[in-house]
Amino acid sequence: MIHTQLYIDGQWQAPVAGGKRAILSPADETVIAEAAEGTRDDARLAIAAARRAFDGPWRNSTIRERAKLLNKIAELIDKDAENLARLESLNTGKTITESRTDMGDIAATFRYFAGLVASESGAVNEAPHHVISRTLREPVGVCGLITPWNYPLLQAAWKIAPALGAGNTVIIKPSNLTPLTTHRFAELLAELDLPAGVFNLVTGGAEVGAELAESVDVDLVSFTGGAYAGESIMKAATGNFKRIGLELGGKNPNIVFADADLDTAVDYALNAAFFHAGQVCSAGSRLMVEDAIYDEFIARLAERLPRIVIGNGFHAETQMGPVQSAAQHEKILKLVQMGVAEGARLVHGGKRPAGAVYEKGFWLEPTLLADVSADMKIAKEEIFGPVITAERFTSEEEVLRLANDTPYGLAAAVWTRDLDKANRMSRALRFGTVWVNDYHPYFPEAPWGGYKASGIGRELSRIGLDEYTELKHSYINLAPKPMGWFGA
Ligand code: NAD
Repeated sequence: MIHTQLYIDGQWQAPVAGGKRAILSPADETVIAEAAEGTRDDARLAIAAARRAFDGPWRNSTIRERAKLLNKIAELIDKDAENLARLESLNTGKTITESRTDMGDIAATFRYFAGLVASESGAVNEAPHHVISRTLREPVGVCGLITPWNYPLLQAAWKIAPALGAGNTVIIKPSNLTPLTTHRFAELLAELDLPAGVFNLVTGGAEVGAELAESVDVDLVSFTGGAYAGESIMKAATGNFKRIGLELGGKNPNIVFADADLDTAVDYALNAAFFHAGQVCSAGSRLMVEDAIYDEFIARLAERLPRIVIGNGFHAETQMGPVQSAAQHEKILKLVQMGVAEGARLVHGGKRPAGAVYEKGFWLEPTLLADVSADMKIAKEEIFGPVITAERFTSEEEVLRLANDTPYGLAAAVWTRDLDKANRMSRALRFGTVWVNDYHPYFPEAPWGGYKASGIGRELSRIGLDEYTELKHSYINLAPKPMGWFGA
């Protein structure tokens, strides 16, 4: 059994109040770990340590040192990748193949930001000859980083790499449902000779996150999670007008036009919706299919769904694992029932799979609800599980209006062979990412984030690094002399 601790000010320690939390395997509900459950007091200790480190040695670290650090972290991730992947699958239920991909992406993220940091340089601005005017990028200060349970270490990496790379100090708070890989990551960092307080880990629930959002000693909060917590973080941040980055939920349309390559679009529609059992902020759960091919599309999906291999993520043949928690399991089933009550046609799934191995654990069949209309609740709410809702449309104008008619704006996809239409749709869809003839790819070089209620700010890319910096105009008068100002 794994036991975890907090990592504060360069020391491993138990929470002040001694809190512990049992971590369950989503596959069979056995207790796989006893995790330290921190409180506001632990968050305060970590904030104070991060503050001291920022005001102390770390502030004078050079970009060369920080780029080297990020490259070193990438190396450590590579070396520990299989162990980390196994921990991630154990804790989240996702397949080991998905977790291995995550670990590769995490190392790539650290390497990408190492390269960016190493190439950082301020700008010299045009100014009178007796003046040196420079635009400098400086770290923001103490950063509180709050992550969700679906991509625990990947989301942490998207924040930690640019935050440390830009010269900030950090407190990372993973979801208390899935703290294991972030804890292992802290163990890897503890082997390095980072100054105490530069990197801190406080595991625990919402109150730890709330302390990070409220504290006037925290200069920036970067949060990935649901809209409800995002809203409370935004309000709390006004205490000292701290910088905020919010990566929130999505209701992501996957739009298939009649001229699309049908075989490919069907195949990708399944990956869009069932990758990580649909627990992906950008999951393509809202399928919108043009009238002329709608019936055939649904029939083809219906043929594939019973063949999806549901099982333990560690088994090589498994295509889809369980959902992460009992609460999530219950919420998804309720939404499916609501959809049926609203008039949607349940084509497949909507229940726990039959069989002794599925009696314990948070298992769900891949689910397809057809004939959904845009006014139904299931067409509007984020389901965050293995559920496709399918809507029929008759024109480009109609699908554009319906797809954009959501408070969210994270990701969308369009399937068509018509390049002009692809371009029109890419421009008109109000989403942070629009894929054409593909679904799900993301990489450190491109920005990630949402329009509207899907968030504020962007992660990854150069912009993702800039979010962790302040811009300073440094002006030096090289030849000061009296000018005869007031009363001379
Ligand atoms: P959540 O909002 O319940 O929790 C996210 C994190 O915030 C956890 O660490 C939690 O402990 C903490 N938290 C909860 N309440 C808080 C509060 N009031 N103040 C401060 N911290 C608080 O989200 P979740 O259920 O863990 O994750 C699922 C959600 O995350 C989905 O809505 C999903 O779309 C979203 N998500 C978005 C992205 C993205 O890139 N946009 C990526 C992954 C997940």
